[in-house]
Amino acid sequence: MGEPSGAETWYPVNGHPSDKATYTLRITVPKPYDVASSGRLLRITDDGDRRTFLWETRDPVASYLVALHIADLDETTAVGPRGLPIRNYFAHAISASDRASFDRLPAMIAYFESAFGPYPFEAYGATVVDEAFGAALETQTMSTHSRDAVAESVVVHELAHQWFGDSVGLERWQDIWLNEGFRNVRGVALDGAHPRCGCAGRDPPPMVRRARRARPAARPLDADGDERARAHQRGARRLPGLISRQEALSALGVAAAAELEHIPASEALPQLRPPPRALQPVTVGDPGPDGLFRG
Ligand SMILES: [Zn+2]
Repeated sequence: MGEPSGAETWYPVNGHPSDKATYTLRITVPKPYDVASSGRLLRITDDGDRRTFLWETRDPVASYLVALHIADLDETTAVGPRGLPIRNYFAHAISASDRASFDRLPAMIAYFESAFGPYPFEAYGATVVDEAFGAALETQTMSTHSRDAVAESVVVHELAHQWFGDSVGLERWQDIWLNEGFRNVRGVALDGAHPRCGCAGRDPPPMVRRARRARPAARPLDADGDERARAHQRGARRLPGLISRQEALSALGVAAAAELEHIPASEALPQLRPPPRALQPVTVGDPGPDGLFRG
């Protein structure tokens, strides 16, 4: 999870988002470990008690988006539009229902292709690790999910980043809001709600309405509002400064989330004392190093 920095702690690299490169990873591990990485798995060489996995990317990757997982993993495969290979890896502890969040990846990819254009890479997949750190990252062609970040809305989120964030990449970290901004527009278009905060969504802009009319899926991709709310509560507990929806409602003295629509941020923020760090205003396009991921 090398966003924004971290890749340079496990391999020698110029860890700048604009310095993309293609990668070949040749990783030898003792059995029964598997290796999941970015690009395509070209070869597995069996050497008795060890195996060597050869992964290679056709397309350039920003260093923070290179994936490498070494664990004893279950592998599933599927096929996306025009034969796109999909390869998912799950730690043994991941439940069948959590794994099911990834079942509709081919339909999700087809939807995004109808909105964005062709899927930009040679493969896709996700790895769900047996750790509960409440986050996922759009590591290129092989998204990384913690075991408590596997709601279908998160799967959609990381997939959408393959177009915005990965293929269309950052020139500088100040522009990180574009990664999440384009991605969130697509999330709204897809399920009518903001996938991360679980709000009901507002009147969509024309481009979103057009995308909704064009969408092939008959049912919303994330109908599980309860799961979203639970995930939000878990995240709120874990991240200092981030408050839950209920805490915000109490602090502002309103009964229902819908009423928040009528309170300007300039009035609401002073009532949230001290203002949660996650809600403190930042300058769009120049959030500072500590504000890169602030709401
Ligand atoms: Zn994101």
